[in-house]
Amino acid sequence: MKREITVVEQRCPKNHRCPAIFACPRGAISQANDGTPMIDKEKCTNCGICLNYCPFKVFQA
Ligand code: SF4
Repeated sequence: MKREITVVEQRCPKNHRCPAIFACPRGAISQANDGTPMIDKEKCTNCGICLNYCPFKVFQA
C-alpha cells in the first residue's frame, strides 16, 4: 500500500516557524494560526522529504 504522510499534531510544540514549509518541493505544507503544520493532500506526492526536517518527528509516514 502506498504510504501517506500525516501530521502528528500532539508532537508539535507549535511555537516556531515550521522548517518543513521550506523543504517541501511541492509547497504542500502550511501552518495554521495556532502553529500546527498542515499538509495539502492535493499537492502532496508523499515523497517523504519533510520527514527529515522536523526534529520532533511531527511528520509521519
Ligand atoms: S511528503 Fe513531500 S510533497 Fe508531501 S508534504 Fe512532505 S515534502 Fe511535501
